Amino acid sequence: MTPEDATSTDSATEGPAPEAATPSLPLQTPLPRLPGVNPKLATALRAQGLETLRDLLEYLPRDYRSESAERDVEALVIDEIQSARGEIVAVDYVSGRRPSRFEATLQDATGKLAIVWFNASYLRTKLRPGMRIRVRGKVKTFRNIPQMVNPKYESVDDATPKDLTNRFRPVYPATADLPSEQIEQLVAGHLDSALPNLDEWFPAGLLHRHRLMSRREAYAKIHRPDNAKQAAEARRRLVYDELMLLQLALSFSRRRREGRISAPVLRLDKTLDARIKARLGFEMTTAQQRAAWQIAADMATGTGMNRLLQGDVGSGKTAVALYAMLVAVANKMQAALLAPTEVLAEQHAFNLRNMLGESSVNIELVTGRTRRGTKRSGEAMLERLEAGQVDIAVGTQALIQKGIDFANLGLVVVDEQHRLGVRQRAVLRGKGYMPHYLVMTATPIPRTLALSFFADFDVSIIDELPPGRQPIRTRWSPYKDLGKVYGFVAAEVDKGRRAYVVFPQIEGSGMTDNPDDVRGLVVEHQALQDRHLPGVAVGMMHGRMTSEEKQQVMADFRSGAVQVLAATTVIEVGVDVPEATVIVIHNAERFGLSQLHQLRGRVGRGEHASTCILLSDATGRDVEQRLGAMVKTNDGFEIAEADLKLRGPGDFFGTRQSGLPPLKVADIGQELELLHVAKDEALALLEHDPDLDKLPVLRQALFDRFGETLNLAQVG
Ligand code: ADP
Ligand code: MG
Repeated sequence: MTPEDATSTDSATEGPAPEAATPSLPLQTPLPRLPGVNPKLATALRAQGLETLRDLLEYLPRDYRSESAERDVEALVIDEIQSARGEIVAVDYVSGRRPSRFEATLQDATGKLAIVWFNASYLRTKLRPGMRIRVRGKVKTFRNIPQMVNPKYESVDDATPKDLTNRFRPVYPATADLPSEQIEQLVAGHLDSALPNLDEWFPAGLLHRHRLMSRREAYAKIHRPDNAKQAAEARRRLVYDELMLLQLALSFSRRRREGRISAPVLRLDKTLDARIKARLGFEMTTAQQRAAWQIAADMATGTGMNRLLQGDVGSGKTAVALYAMLVAVANKMQAALLAPTEVLAEQHAFNLRNMLGESSVNIELVTGRTRRGTKRSGEAMLERLEAGQVDIAVGTQALIQKGIDFANLGLVVVDEQHRLGVRQRAVLRGKGYMPHYLVMTATPIPRTLALSFFADFDVSIIDELPPGRQPIRTRWSPYKDLGKVYGFVAAEVDKGRRAYVVFPQIEGSGMTDNPDDVRGLVVEHQALQDRHLPGVAVGMMHGRMTSEEKQQVMADFRSGAVQVLAATTVIEVGVDVPEATVIVIHNAERFGLSQLHQLRGRVGRGEHASTCILLSDATGRDVEQRLGAMVKTNDGFEIAEADLKLRGPGDFFGTRQSGLPPLKVADIGQELELLHVAKDEALALLEHDPDLDKLPVLRQALFDRFGETLNLAQVG
C-alpha cells in the first residue's frame, strides 16, 4: 500500500470527468487558470514544480493499477482493488495502542465488510452508523470476513450510480497535499484540450523505423492507457524522445566547442617527446603511447582540448597526464593537476617530484592546508604561482578557488572527474583562463554511459596494464575464516609485502557473532595490533584524522614503517603503494560494486601477485551479484557495466556532476538498446540538417530543455 492510498479524502473521485466539449488550450496556459484549480490546489501544484499545462502533461504516472467495477460484498475478490457500498452498521475507535484504529462495519444485502483506518481519529466526527458510503481499496480477509485497510470512501445515496466499468488507472507521484486522484482528475479534464497543441518532433520515417507512436498518442496513452501494454509503448516513445534530445544536445554542444573555444597552441616535436619519455623511467605501454599522442595532437591545434582519459585502476593514467603536463611546461605554460582529496594530491606531488627530481620543473602542492600553513610560506607560494615560477601546481579544489591566480595556465588535469567538475571549469573561465582539459577517471565509465554523457568529450582509453602485472586473485570469505585470512596477511608481511584492511565505518561493534554487526575501524585496529597480527606494525587512517596525520601514516606505509594499514575508504581512490599485495575488505556487502573495484585497485600495482579478500556473511541476491561479479572479473569495464545494471545511472555517475540535467523518464541502465538507436538517429539527423532547420519543433524542444544547462547557443 502506498502513502497516497492511505489518504482518505471525502471527495475521492471516480476517474475521468465526463467528456465536455474540448476547447484547445495552449500548453503554456498557467494551471491556476484552468477551471477546477483553486488557490490551494495551485499552491500544491506549484510545490511539485507544476506551473503550466505542459508541466502537467509531462508529469507522468509512476505506475498503474487495475480496478474492477463496484461489486456486492459477497462478490469481492481477495487481493484486488475494488469498490463496494453499503450502510455503516457499527463503528469503533481504538486508541489504546499505537497506531490508533478507526473501525467500521459496512453491510449490504449480501454480507458484511470490515474496514480499518489507521491513525484516523478525525473519522470519529465523520462516520456514523446509518450512513451510506462507498469504499474502494484492496480486499483482504480478516477472521473470515472480507476487510479493507485504509480504503478511500465517499458518501453515497440511492441516486449515486453504480460504478460499472473496470479500470486501468494511473498512479502519479503524489504528496499529502496533492493526491494522485487529484492529478488524475486534472489531467483527465484537460488532456484532450492539450493534445492538439502537441506537435510531432520527428519525421514519419524515423517513427516508423523504430515502431514509435506519435507524440500525441504517447501522451494520451501514458496518462490514459487501456492496459499495461499500451502504457509501456507510450513510455517507450517518451524515453526515446528524452534520449534523442540528450544526444542532439550533446552533439550541438560539441560542435560549438569545436568551432569556437580557443586555447593555447602547445607544440610537441621528436626531441621533446624523447626528453619527456626519458623522465618517466619506464617504457609507455602502447595504449599509453596512443593516448599521449592523441592528447598532444589536441593541444597543438589551438582549439581547447576536452578529453576524457579512461583506464582501469593501475593502467598508468598519471604517467600519461605527466606527459601532457610536461608538453605544456615545455611550451612555457603552467599545468594544474586537481585531485579529489588531499591525500591524493599529496601522493601525486610526491610521485611527480620523484620522477622529475633532477629536472628544473618546479612542482608545488596547493591544498587547503598548505594555504593555511604559515601565512608567509602560503603567500609566497601563491606569489610564485602568479609570477609563473611554478610549472606544475598539484592540489585539491583549493587550487582553483578565489584568490589563486596563475601566470599562464595552459592545461588542467582533473583526476577522478566525478568529484570535480563543471562548476570548477566555470570558475577558471571566469578568471579568463582558457586551458586545455584532460579528465582522468579510474572509475571506468561504462561504454554505454561514455557514449551518451561524454559525447561532449573526446575519449582516450588505456585498455592495457603495464607489463609484468599479475592478475589480482579475489576471494569471498566468510567470517569463520577470519583467522586464516589474517594468517595469510601475516605471511605476506613476512615476505616484505604490505596489506590494507578496510572497514566500512570508523566506529563499530567489533567482532561479534551477529552477522548484522558492522566492524568498526577503531576497535578492529586495536584487535589487529594486539591479537591478530602481534609484532606487525599496523597503522590506521580515516577521514576524521587531520591531513598531517593522514600524510604521516601514508608516508610510513610507503616506507614500510607501517606494514598493515587499517583504513576506511579514504584509500579508495588512486592510492599507489606498489608493495601492497593484499587487501582485506570487511563487511564487503556494505560497499557498492564500483567502490569494491576501486579498493581492489589499491593492490596489484607492483611485480608481485596480489590478493583481494572480501569478508562477508551477508546473503541475498544483491550481495551475491556484487561480490560474485568481483570474484568473477577483474575487468573494470565489465564491473562498471554490471554496477550500472544493478544501481542505475543516476547513482552511478552522478549525472548531476556531469553537468547534465537528470532524465525524467529514461533509465539509461535499462534502456541501452534505445540509447544506441537514439545516438545513431541523432547523428543521422544532424548530418542532413545540421541546425535542425527542417525540424523547428524539435529544435525548440532542444533549447527549451537543454539550452541553459549545456550553454547551447541559439543556432541560425
Ligand atoms: P592509474 O592512475 O591509472 O591508476 P598510475 O598512473 O597510478 O595508474 O600507475 C600505476 C603504477 O604503474 C604506478 O606505480 C606507475 O608508476 C606504474 N606505471 C605506469 N605506467 C607504467 C609503464 N608503462 N610501465 C611500468 N610501470 C608503469
Ligand atoms: Mg591514479
